[in-house]
Amino acid sequence: MSSFKYAAKNAAPIYESVVNDKGKKIINKILMGTYVTILEQQGNWYRVATAGPDGWIHSDNLTDYMGLKIFFLDVGQGDGVLIETGKYRLLIDAGPDNSMHSYLTKWQFRYLLDSDKKIHIDYVIISHFDTDHYKGLIKILDDNNFTFGTLIHPGILKFATKDNPYTTGLGNTIKHSGKTILTHVFDDLLNINEPHPFNRDTSNFMEALHKAHSEGRITATQRYEQGSSILNTTVEGKPFNIEVLAPFTENTPNGKGFMYWKDVGKTINGHSLVIKLYFGNRTVLLGGDLNTLSQEYLINQYGNDHPFEVDVAKSCHHGASDFTEKFMQLVNPYATVISSGDNEGYSHPRADAIGCAGKYSKSKRPLVYSTELARSTDINSNKILFGMINLRCNGSHIFMSQMKERKNDADLWDAYEIL
Ligand SMILES: [Zn+2]
Repeated sequence: MSSFKYAAKNAAPIYESVVNDKGKKIINKILMGTYVTILEQQGNWYRVATAGPDGWIHSDNLTDYMGLKIFFLDVGQGDGVLIETGKYRLLIDAGPDNSMHSYLTKWQFRYLLDSDKKIHIDYVIISHFDTDHYKGLIKILDDNNFTFGTLIHPGILKFATKDNPYTTGLGNTIKHSGKTILTHVFDDLLNINEPHPFNRDTSNFMEALHKAHSEGRITATQRYEQGSSILNTTVEGKPFNIEVLAPFTENTPNGKGFMYWKDVGKTINGHSLVIKLYFGNRTVLLGGDLNTLSQEYLINQYGNDHPFEVDVAKSCHHGASDFTEKFMQLVNPYATVISSGDNEGYSHPRADAIGCAGKYSKSKRPLVYSTELARSTDINSNKILFGMINLRCNGSHIFMSQMKERKNDADLWDAYEIL
């Protein structure tokens, strides 16, 4: 008997006791893929230790497979997503502050630190270099409890506004075939030959990256673009692929470049890494901070043979109004997750972004999740209880769950199957 298993069903019940082969009194419910340690077996029943109160679970509700877990963490105004399978851990953005670091070290991977193990992240993906996506990574890179495989980024960095001799805050642009093209493209961030200073947050990030590298805790950094594949493998006998749908580069006489749209913000957001994940026959899209101009550009680049349609999508740009209905129509998910913060100046998520996320869905009852709504405040202590949207997938079924606001272990989850 293996000493551990995973929940095979979502919100699988854990009972206080078993009488005549029947569970008595549900005391806990655990999400599909949740790790359980087997303490004892009696017939079809196992006594287990798991997240929440320990108790008895039926063998039908257990499996040897973890499946895919995606954690959309409430990082305030920003994005922070952890992807986990039995084989791989990926981090896609880490928010603007230390919330992701706290979550990883105090909760998610505390069991590793408690047994003096390192937390290894196979791929760290930075959708783009805006602080609400990468600044939270600085503390994670700095912490020697972490080791990393490859850091993947889209290749555009921000320069200091002072002493910057370039035509834009992202470097020089040229005119080519009637387009304005940004010619500063960075590949290996550990090997940059750049005479002019980056902005302060970028410089702090670079410092943490070099420190992690000098301590042997990060293997490599690499720029990825449309057509790159991050993973093309199997997990638990099922296809597990992670593909890069954007950004596209443009060829110029000076080498590769990026379309320059209107200003620094539109350009850096518009060239976010757009990631499509496949597990079994289910799909998820993480669209960074795409905006109207970049969505139109991508639709044009792909033409009719586009790869955007998925089961679950993270809404682009925190539910801002700067989106096209056409792009949402092409993505056409069952469920959308919007990651944004309370108390910020953008009023994210915007009413039209929420409305269209519902309208352009293939579900009769579309699901629109908001990390901001998943957050709650304890009225007694006035403490913020950070939210989380949980996605669990076994390759054929997807469940999405968030914790109910009032804690009751026996009835903890507000859960839906994605169909
Ligand atoms: Zn953002």
